[in-house]
Amino acid sequence: MAPVPPETFKARKARLRAAFLEQLPQRLHAARALLTAPPTDAGDRAGLVQLHLALHTVKGSAASFGLTAISELAREGDDLLQATLTADAPPPPGLSAALAAVLERLEALALGPAAPADQAEHFSFEPLSAPLAPAPGAAAQAPRPTTDGAAEPGTQRRDKLVYLCDDDGDLAQQLCAQLACFGYPVTALTSLEQMRAAVRAHPPAAIIMDVMFPEGEHAGPAALAALSAATGQSIPSLYISCRDDFQARLQAVKAGGSAYCTKPVKTTEMVEFLDTLTNRELATPFHVLVVDDEPNIASLHALILEEAGMTTAVATDPAQVVTLLKGFNADLVLMDMYMPECSGPELARVLRQMPGHVSLPIIFLSSETDRERQFKALEVGADGFLTKPVEPRRLVAEVSLRAERMRTLHALMVRDGLTGLFNHNTIMQFLELGVANARRDGRPMCFAMIDVDRFKRVNDTYGHPAGDQVLMALSRGLRMRLRESDVVGRYGGEEFAVVLPGVDEHQARVILDALRTSFAEVLFYAGDATFTCTFSAGVAAFPRFAGADTLVEAADLALYRAKRGGRDRVELATAADFAPGGREGADGR
Ligand code: GH3
Ligand code: MG
Ligand code: MG
Repeated sequence: MAPVPPETFKARKARLRAAFLEQLPQRLHAARALLTAPPTDAGDRAGLVQLHLALHTVKGSAASFGLTAISELAREGDDLLQATLTADAPPPPGLSAALAAVLERLEALALGPAAPADQAEHFSFEPLSAPLAPAPGAAAQAPRPTTDGAAEPGTQRRDKLVYLCDDDGDLAQQLCAQLACFGYPVTALTSLEQMRAAVRAHPPAAIIMDVMFPEGEHAGPAALAALSAATGQSIPSLYISCRDDFQARLQAVKAGGSAYCTKPVKTTEMVEFLDTLTNRELATPFHVLVVDDEPNIASLHALILEEAGMTTAVATDPAQVVTLLKGFNADLVLMDMYMPECSGPELARVLRQMPGHVSLPIIFLSSETDRERQFKALEVGADGFLTKPVEPRRLVAEVSLRAERMRTLHALMVRDGLTGLFNHNTIMQFLELGVANARRDGRPMCFAMIDVDRFKRVNDTYGHPAGDQVLMALSRGLRMRLRESDVVGRYGGEEFAVVLPGVDEHQARVILDALRTSFAEVLFYAGDATFTCTFSAGVAAFPRFAGADTLVEAADLALYRAKRGGRDRVELATAADFAPGGREGADGR
């Protein structure tokens, strides 16, 4: 049987448009029923408000589907009612008849067999050709303490091919060895000829290259540019150079360089660039919640965003929103303004009053064109206003921009600057969440504290930058070797904390012991010297220790015991650690 081709964007859009048209006569009929009595007293005012909402919705939806004539007619009715409802006076005598006329013409248009299909669309609905992914800088910043598992996409980095091209073989080898400590198995190439052959055979995810070659200054960038042109693939490149002047940097940029490091190269800086250059496709798609009481319009906007590579959820009832947000981890909410029962601004206010959603970006999407009312709507703490019909490109651009800014801000709030791990506060929130989940599911969980041994000595002997490298290598090791559901944070200084859900203390000991032995084998470079480091760890298990605070205290006591016992070991916390004298000899730490 031939495979069924996936429905195209056009076809899905056409389906939504047809569904809208099919429901329209019934909807207009219902609207007409609101007009049966002449609207003269207060009781009818509610009916007018309802009718206003109906016409306003038809105006916006029809425009979004490119049904201009229907939208324009609905606008007439919308304007009539808007004027009446804001005047706060009894409805004028001719209103009912005028509205009836509008509805009648609308019904004729909606039922007219060929009419809607003939109408030209306001703008092209073609989606963007290339899916928009979050910018590399925003990568891997999605996990929030509100989710069960914290995705750390570090593991996939091992598959990334990176070349380092430098005619100084020793330097190249040394750099490769350092980068390997950070999870980048880099291939050293010492001539441009080697580089050309390697790139042709296996195009890399990124290339690190010296600007200077025996063939001449900028021979490397020129060779790479020629190679990119020949293969039709631009390879993300990071240049290293002895020069730090503007001209040298400019040359590298002109050659298509994405990053520039001066020699002597700081490994940590280079690793950061490599993360950015190679992590592009690992970026988690933006999560957008679309709220619109009109299902077809909600689906249309969700469709446009999905076409651009985002993940969406749809709510047609504002009452679902809070529940939906719990499981969805939204980067942004796209919200209709006029909805029955609860308006967009009211819903925004509800969300703003919840601590978890204080900074969640909200964009209103409405056919409201009155500036004053748009500003009023924004006052509740929304971040933007888009007018229906919105051009798909514009919608995608506005949503990506705000979602990305949010992720960057969020990352600054929850991550540690040096290691990129969760900071102290965030890891503690994850611990609380882990305890709550373990209690609810009746499953075990562990909390571990890790402390680098004799770290002061590393700093004193090899310098602070060498110490930083150790911390970065350890944080990477933790991120790469632990499971996706484990959460790692920098507890402070040279101390790290790990939450291991679903793991009992014996399993935790095995996991941490494996980490400990592999970390002890990592060779660090500082000038001409090489050295290794070890760590000690204390593990506390739930339910033996039943709350977050007790787990932290118990893990800390076990860590003291590991230090006292000679370091480079993992200890499990027991009740005896809490006995008087449990901390005895702790200054051996
Ligand atoms: P122990 O085995 O008992 O843990 O000994 P230690 O030397 O590791 O412990 P101590 O707590 O005496 O020293 C920790 C050192 O870690 C002191 C501090 O200067 C250093 N440190 C803390 N944060 C950083 C950092 O971000 N970078 C670097 N390079 N050093 C740091
Ligand atoms: Mg230490
Ligand atoms: Mg310490």
